[in-house]
Amino acid sequence: MRPTPDPGRTALALPAHLIEIAIRPGDHAYDNVRHTYTRLGTPAAVLRVRGHSDIAEALAYARTAGTPLTVRSGGHGISGRSTNDDGIVIDLARLDAVEILDEDAGLVRVGAGARWGDVAKSLASYGLALSSGDTGDVGVGGLATAGGIGLMSRQHGLTIDHIHAVKVVMADGSSQRVDADHDPDLFWALRGAGANFGVATAFEFHAVRIREVITAFTLYDARRMSSFLTNWGAAVEAAPRAVSSFLTLVQGPDGRPFGHAMTVYAGSERHAALAALAPVLAAGPVLRNDVTVMPYHRLVPAHHRPQCAQQPLTESRSGLLDRITLSAAEAIGRVMTAAGIVQLRSVGGAVNDTAPGAMAYAHRTQKFSLMAATTPALVDDLDDRWEVLHPHLNGLYLNFETRTGRRQLQDAFPGAVLDRLIALKARHDPHHLFDSNFALPSA
Ligand SMILES: Cc1cc2nc3c(=O)[nH]c(=O)nc-3n(C[C@H](O)[C@H](O)[C@H](O)COP(=O)(O)OP(=O)(O)OC[C@H]3O[C@@H](n4cnc5c(N)ncnc54)[C@H](O)[C@@H]3O)c2cc1C
Repeated sequence: MRPTPDPGRTALALPAHLIEIAIRPGDHAYDNVRHTYTRLGTPAAVLRVRGHSDIAEALAYARTAGTPLTVRSGGHGISGRSTNDDGIVIDLARLDAVEILDEDAGLVRVGAGARWGDVAKSLASYGLALSSGDTGDVGVGGLATAGGIGLMSRQHGLTIDHIHAVKVVMADGSSQRVDADHDPDLFWALRGAGANFGVATAFEFHAVRIREVITAFTLYDARRMSSFLTNWGAAVEAAPRAVSSFLTLVQGPDGRPFGHAMTVYAGSERHAALAALAPVLAAGPVLRNDVTVMPYHRLVPAHHRPQCAQQPLTESRSGLLDRITLSAAEAIGRVMTAAGIVQLRSVGGAVNDTAPGAMAYAHRTQKFSLMAATTPALVDDLDDRWEVLHPHLNGLYLNFETRTGRRQLQDAFPGAVLDRLIALKARHDPHHLFDSNFALPSA
């Protein structure tokens, strides 16, 4: 654990308004807010902003003082880039309101600092839900600016596919509400590359009407890894859209590989669900299977545990697959031997109903997202194996990747998408204030 920095060494000459909301080294609360899920941090100040004017003032300060700046919503960024050393963190935890704007239309407004588990719980009282991700402690801001591959994605698309409008504080301190009619270019960029353009403070979403889901939690013996993965992939692709499946591959203490799948049927029709889930369950030898009917929000509870870089697998690699062919499955099996964890998440279905050019997240043909994570000690080995896998991949979801080089940007934003983003970056953030997370290069 890194020591608390010397308050005298890191002191910033913050304006009075920012001192009111700053948590600094030496303050009682500092240790609870300085780290993230994957990274230890020693920021000079964590600013628990109350709204637009605090954010504008923080941005002006960072710009003129040249202080490192990061933005944090839930602190669950895989990249860990929402803290820093010696800089300021704009912490949006206080902006966590969930408001119903139009119950009949399912239109809701959610603060960027809310956690998805709390959003799910609030919306459940209205019979509404938003497919976000598999973890309720993940923050709204980091996920809804990049994608959002969720447990109902094949039925309802990505989280960003439901965004109606975004409220954002820009580098010059102005606050804007952008949607399809108000600055559509910026609206396009915010849905996939949002971290490069400003501080999103709230999102308006069209939520869907759903109460219960039927979920199978399945433990597979994955020793015959290649055939298991190809079977699972084919079964998921062939399943009705109501079925989404997330598969985690881990090795037991004796090196034996297991697959844990969480397969969700987005609906409460028991017979239809069991018929739809059966082929996915048959993908490999089942060691244990529990099928449960539950309200969607129970799948993704938020625990609000303090963050202290509790995740030791700090290096992660991300890719998207059109399908799981035998050769891709063999390459994933080899990745598995150097990774602490490998996860496959189904996309496809409704995700691919959106046109690739509709928003900055342009991956609308792929059927699976792949993530592999490991410790720094094993990352070179993982990278050697990832290189063999790379030709089987088609693009990258940046929320599961910790490398930020040119190739990662090109994989995340293929072809003309990257060019359009670079041009928009020059217009909206010419001094590169928002460069801590997959920075877009200058035009
Ligand atoms: C355990 C775990 C499970 C996950 N499961 C899924 C999953 O199932 N599906 C999925 O799609 N993703 C998943 N993710 C990835 C997740 O989407 C990203 O890690 C996301 O960035 C976390 O959001 P956050 O607000 O908690 O992160 P933070 O650490 O707060 O932010 C991450 C980065 O996002 C940017 N950012 C955050 N808030 C804002 C804002 N308001 N405005 C502008 N930029 C902002 C900043 O650059 C920041 O550095 C998972 C992550 C973890 C740790």
